[in-house]
Amino acid sequence: MTDELKTFICVFCHYRSQKKNFGCPHCGRPFGYGEERTMKAIQLAHAAVFTLIGGMLILLGVKILINELRLPYEIAPWWVFAVIFGFGGLLAMGGLSSFFGNSWLLRLLFLLFARNNLAEKPKGKPEEN
Ligand SMILES: [Zn+2]
Repeated sequence: MTDELKTFICVFCHYRSQKKNFGCPHCGRPFGYGEERTMKAIQLAHAAVFTLIGGMLILLGVKILINELRLPYEIAPWWVFAVIFGFGGLLAMGGLSSFFGNSWLLRLLFLLFARNNLAEKPKGKPEEN
């Protein structure tokens, strides 16, 4: 294993280090710190997936909207479109900005993920900085 040649980065604060660590040594967040290649792959994969899902949601919303405009009765209340376009737009924007290295959506998901997993704390005392 050539662990010392690897670079680890944090998606939260963009901290870089050669040291392997659970959690970011700089900002202390438990998730989002990992091998650069892995994190880049995650970033790219989620960018592609979110852009795709976001685009599909917007397309779906447009389709329903066109149908609704053609029909004499409402097939969906207005908030359905607000949710579809809002969520689709959020995912598409988050996915697209991830292609340019700004992974705020991934950060958001990591935060939600970290919240659900706070019970699983790593061994050893947490470092306060
Ligand atoms: Zn960090």
